[in-house]
Amino acid sequence: MIPRRGASGPLFALALLFAGTPPAEAADFGRCVGSLRGEALGRGISGQTFDTALAGVEPDPSVLEAMDAQPEFKTPIWDYLAVLVDEERIADGRANLERWASVLEQVESRYGVDRHVVVAVWGVESDFGRQTGARALVRSLATGACAGRRQKFFRDELMATLAILQSGDMPAEALRGSWAGAFGQTQFMPTTYQRLAVDFDGDGKRDIVGSVPDALGSTANFLVKAGWVSAEPWGYEVRLPAGYTGPSGRRNRQALAQWRARGVTALDGRPMGGNGAAALLLPTGKNGPAFLVFGNFNALYAYNAAESYALAIAHLSDRLRGGTAFKTPWPTDDGGLSRARRRELQALLNQRGFDVGAPDGAIGPRTRAAIRAFRASIGLSEDERAGTRVFEALKNPAAK
Ligand code: CA
Repeated sequence: MIPRRGASGPLFALALLFAGTPPAEAADFGRCVGSLRGEALGRGISGQTFDTALAGVEPDPSVLEAMDAQPEFKTPIWDYLAVLVDEERIADGRANLERWASVLEQVESRYGVDRHVVVAVWGVESDFGRQTGARALVRSLATGACAGRRQKFFRDELMATLAILQSGDMPAEALRGSWAGAFGQTQFMPTTYQRLAVDFDGDGKRDIVGSVPDALGSTANFLVKAGWVSAEPWGYEVRLPAGYTGPSGRRNRQALAQWRARGVTALDGRPMGGNGAAALLLPTGKNGPAFLVFGNFNALYAYNAAESYALAIAHLSDRLRGGTAFKTPWPTDDGGLSRARRRELQALLNQRGFDVGAPDGAIGPRTRAAIRAFRASIGLSEDERAGTRVFEALKNPAAK
């Protein structure tokens, strides 16, 4: 869950200001935190809760930098899906379906959300609780509350965090997450937690950090409140008639009969099912996979407003259920790499003397620089993307 909206120049300037935190800016930050105290008290936060939480807090310039760089907008969809729906995540998801089967059964019966979807959200959001973010929420949110363009947004999230601290539902050290404040196994924002987290294991605490049942129940509760309808599909891959010129786009919803009349067919040749209006999603235009998506897709979209993200959850849920990869290939000859292949790529770069550090499957600045240097060394064009072509070139440079 990441708040959208690109930001530009002024934010970066602020980030630079914070980087050195000269005395004047430090004083501004201190004054801002002081003004937040009054607001917190007005919202029922005790002075003690506030003072303990904000004691010695300093601005985090990387939060403002991160506002400027949101990977979903720069990454080709095939890279995004190659990582989020790879064999590892499918295997981990299936293992968790078994391990948490009885909890998931209760979640299904209470909320009516299919267990594969709940587990897919868990896998995409936090890699099943393994990647929940390490930044102290209070620091990140205080930074956003006192600088940048979205101060009101971050102030509300900070106040919600303080309320959570005061509730004692989770210990202070557990409240760590992304730069934007998404935290726990569900990666809820603090205000979302306040509205939608549930105590599914019944211990009296809503703990989406330490309790898997609370995280799974809270995810299902979120989806139901976002409009999830039980036993309905999110959608499915379809085939367009040759030369299709009709409408598309998530917001352009029409009756299924309309899509049939336009010649859209299910890929497996069976009748197209699903109730209610559907939209035709063409992530890469008419060349590439096409999907009819229903209201449940919008419930996934509500979790994190990016179509590529919703499609990753949707597809992972299908794969967990035993479904196959998309039938139509993405329109590229340089596809994405799974996490396993990314680690292999990093190991190959290391072997060839382009140091990326210990292979971890995360493509950061160091790996990108190494890819660029490797490509230059064999006369390939300047590019730092980790795709199948550079991977193959690394395995066999002579054949580039
Ligand atoms: Ca609980």
